[in-house]
Amino acid sequence: MPSYDAVVVGAGPNGLAAAVALARGGVKTLLVEANDTIGGGARTAELTLPGFLHDACSAIHPMAVVSPFFRTLPLAGLGVEFLQSPHALAHPLDDGSAAVLDPSLERTVAGLMIDGPAYRTLMEPFVRHAEALLSQMLRPLLDARRQLPLMARLGIYGLRSTSAIARRFRTPAARALFAGCGAHAIRPLHCAGSASVGIALALAGHTAGWPCVRGGSGAISSALAAHFQSLGGEIETSRPVRSMRDIPEAARAVIFDVTPRQLAAIAGNDLPDRFVRKLRRFRYGPGVFKVDWALDDPIPWRAEECRTAGTVHVGGTLEEIAAYESSVWQGRTTDRPFVLVAQQSLFDSTRAPNGKQTGWAYCHVPNGSTVDMTDAIEKQVERFAPGFRGRILARATMNTAQYEDHDANLVGGDIAGGANDFLQLLMRPFPAFDPYATPNRRIYIGSSSTPPGGGVHGMCGYWAACSALRRSFGIRGSGL
Ligand SMILES: Cc1cc2nc3c(=O)[nH]c(=O)nc-3n(C[C@H](O)[C@H](O)[C@H](O)COP(=O)(O)OP(=O)(O)OC[C@H]3O[C@@H](n4cnc5c(N)ncnc54)[C@H](O)[C@@H]3O)c2cc1C
Repeated sequence: MPSYDAVVVGAGPNGLAAAVALARGGVKTLLVEANDTIGGGARTAELTLPGFLHDACSAIHPMAVVSPFFRTLPLAGLGVEFLQSPHALAHPLDDGSAAVLDPSLERTVAGLMIDGPAYRTLMEPFVRHAEALLSQMLRPLLDARRQLPLMARLGIYGLRSTSAIARRFRTPAARALFAGCGAHAIRPLHCAGSASVGIALALAGHTAGWPCVRGGSGAISSALAAHFQSLGGEIETSRPVRSMRDIPEAARAVIFDVTPRQLAAIAGNDLPDRFVRKLRRFRYGPGVFKVDWALDDPIPWRAEECRTAGTVHVGGTLEEIAAYESSVWQGRTTDRPFVLVAQQSLFDSTRAPNGKQTGWAYCHVPNGSTVDMTDAIEKQVERFAPGFRGRILARATMNTAQYEDHDANLVGGDIAGGANDFLQLLMRPFPAFDPYATPNRRIYIGSSSTPPGGGVHGMCGYWAACSALRRSFGIRGSGL
């Protein structure tokens, strides 16, 4: 077997980013992946009918566009094309209207009518410094000293609850729009800190839109893999790592793109008991239930704005969304879920045969739940798009168990790499100056269970690689 200086375990966006960063540092690196395909949460497949390409997990990629590490890579040259929709996000209401998050702050303000000025007061200072702020948010928190005033301002709003920020608005439309963004935190809307996720996603929308990728999210993974291989890296698929014995002995650093509980199971014997206990105490969040549709025609939204939006948040008012997200944390679902819908084929003709469409939708469910939410999700879409069900040619569904089967990191269906509760939102997997390092100088963790958390941006893997380059190879300097 050839000898490698470093091994990366897991070829999700963070594992791929870690592998690229190590190879760029001149370290001979092997990337091993348990599945027969690379990509983890960024994969595309014909899940319903031949010719219909569905994003099995991630679909919408503002964080990939603003990722400081991805920006240093020749992704466009490797076939990654981000496709923008006229509206980043639309949020329909029962009266047939819809609130809109537009890439332009001005147009969003104008569309929110009497709530426009309040939205401007909230977002404009962040939008003015978007690049600096987003780049800071994609670092470990303890690095925040670089942008202290900006981070302090973010803290004033972001440390509050989504409900509290939404109630600054007077109209149901503006309240619902912010509630939907905040619900991406996958926490009850009344929880402190949940607003930070809504603000970050709205800010990303005003900076980079909420694009999908031509041909599917898998194009990002393929590009990262091709770049890694062009730097001399090697990839082995269908190679699950079950213990440190599966790692070539010569490797001086091993970066795990896995969650803390998995790391404890794989490397527990090589780590101090106290550290392993901390890994095992890591908290996982709710799971998801997802439906992909092959459609005869576009979803017939009543509100015009939804027909030109890449993402549609379906769930009605702030109060309805808040009630559903709270029920999930209490271990229940209801027949009125908050549903996140993406309609990539409207903006990407490669996704479906001529004239046909795809639809992608999921809702949160309790961790490990096997409840079938297909009917509830479709009823919610039908509520704002009468006639929708008549356009379904085929569907594919995934519950939490099927997701964990698809990607072992999706523990109990948790798509965020761990619960975004207050502490884990700020510092994950637990407070530490270097959250990627472990007491064993050979072992690192760089999945979305580390800062800056979930999303396809590769920054967790990148920072983990920086830590490994520094500690295990004596190579300094991030350049970002
Ligand atoms: C339904 C759904 C929708 C989402 N929507 C979006 C979205 O629209 N936009 C967005 O930015 N993000 C989205 N996400 C989140 C995004 O996919 C994740 O945050 C991201 O993929 C995390 O990357 P990762 O590399 O940390 O982990 P993963 O992508 O989960 O990759 C981990 C990899 O490690 C492998 N692995 C695990 N254990 C082992 C082992 N023991 N040995 C070898 N290999 C192993 C797995 O097979 C997998 O390939 C979504 C996720 C899901 C599931």
